Amino acid sequence: MLIPSPELISLDEILPNEPLLMMGAGPVPIPEQVAKANSIVINHLGETMAKIIDQVKQMSRYVFQTQSPWILGVAGPGSAAMEMAVTNLVWQNTRVLSISNGFFSSRLAEMASRVGADVKTLQVEETKIPDLAQIKQILDTFKPEVLTLVQGETSNTVCNKNLAEISQLAHQYDCYVIVDAVCTLSTMPLKMDEWKIDAVITGGQKGLSSIPGVSLIAFSERAYQRMHARPSKCPQWCLDAQLAEQFWHHGSYHYTAPVSGILAIHEALALICKETLESRFARHLRCSLALQRGIEALGLSLYVPEQARLNSVIGINVPEGIEQKALCHHISNQYRVEIAGSFGLNIVRIGQMGEQSRAHHLFRTLHAFGCSIRDLGGQIDLPTGMAELERGLQAGVAQTNN
Ligand SMILES: *Cc1c(COP(=O)(O)O)cnc(C)c1O
Repeated sequence: MLIPSPELISLDEILPNEPLLMMGAGPVPIPEQVAKANSIVINHLGETMAKIIDQVKQMSRYVFQTQSPWILGVAGPGSAAMEMAVTNLVWQNTRVLSISNGFFSSRLAEMASRVGADVKTLQVEETKIPDLAQIKQILDTFKPEVLTLVQGETSNTVCNKNLAEISQLAHQYDCYVIVDAVCTLSTMPLKMDEWKIDAVITGGQKGLSSIPGVSLIAFSERAYQRMHARPSKCPQWCLDAQLAEQFWHHGSYHYTAPVSGILAIHEALALICKETLESRFARHLRCSLALQRGIEALGLSLYVPEQARLNSVIGINVPEGIEQKALCHHISNQYRVEIAGSFGLNIVRIGQMGEQSRAHHLFRTLHAFGCSIRDLGGQIDLPTGMAELERGLQAGVAQTNN
């Protein structure tokens, strides 16, 4: 007797009739070209794959703005790439300064402490960016060997706008800098070499507009030397950069590569190269600012003041009398637009990463958002909000054409 096969509901029945427009904090919509590539399986060690890997590395160097050859892919979420950066550069008793703005930056601190590092956390005040003088003082006294931080803290929509200064300062102290750019890479400037960053992490499903589960990481030459000289082996076999080098740089076996996901990321990177970083940054800025103006014109307020505000994910204070969960639920069910709540804060978040930053998505999202608040009894000025969005997009177009 076999255990009987289960009775199932078909995917056609499970999936909604009308697909959701994914406007939350990731995953984001993927272009047709990416979806198509993701449906293909090829030999992971053949010649075709070798060509594809070579191009992924070339395109990554452009997107990360680095000359370093040490680009590696990871079969895993953005968090796996974070763990790869941390566990290869940090070990027992390594002094680590972890700049924490919230949920994701504190994950880097947690990962460092799990490999036995001596972690000092600099907790940044909510909705603020880190203070350079305070960092300098810790570099002087604690003498960290590694510093970790995020470029954009997706959870509370804070952007560490002084990332370049922080990284360059740490570099003067010979401290290695690990930057999580999962939500920001290719949506706003990041210059790995010029800013002296030693490891940059990104995931697939946010800024790059690829699929979740395949991620990229870039190490500086200096970081690579540190890894090769480490006193003990990297404790995680799958995430060992020296083993990953076998596949990513010598065409040999480490583990079976996620070929479809790599093909998908190849296409996502190709689209970025075609668009160019300059135009892509301008598009993201134009769309995000127009949406921010539109939201404010509805009569709502944004969570983070402009000096520290992330453009890649917009955090909006939930108006009084409305429940965050009910709002997310309503906009999803009634208008087929998905937005995100947050970890513990009374805000909702609308993403502006990759394919989310398209005018037609913005109009639909702002309209659905305004209608949802109105449906739930809130007071908003929908026509003014929509008009501001339109004006913002037009003004942005005029600016970027100049
Ligand atoms: C989403 C995100 C992560 C984690 O990515 P996963 O793919 O969910 O593991 C890490 N850091 C930042 C800044 C993120 O936005």
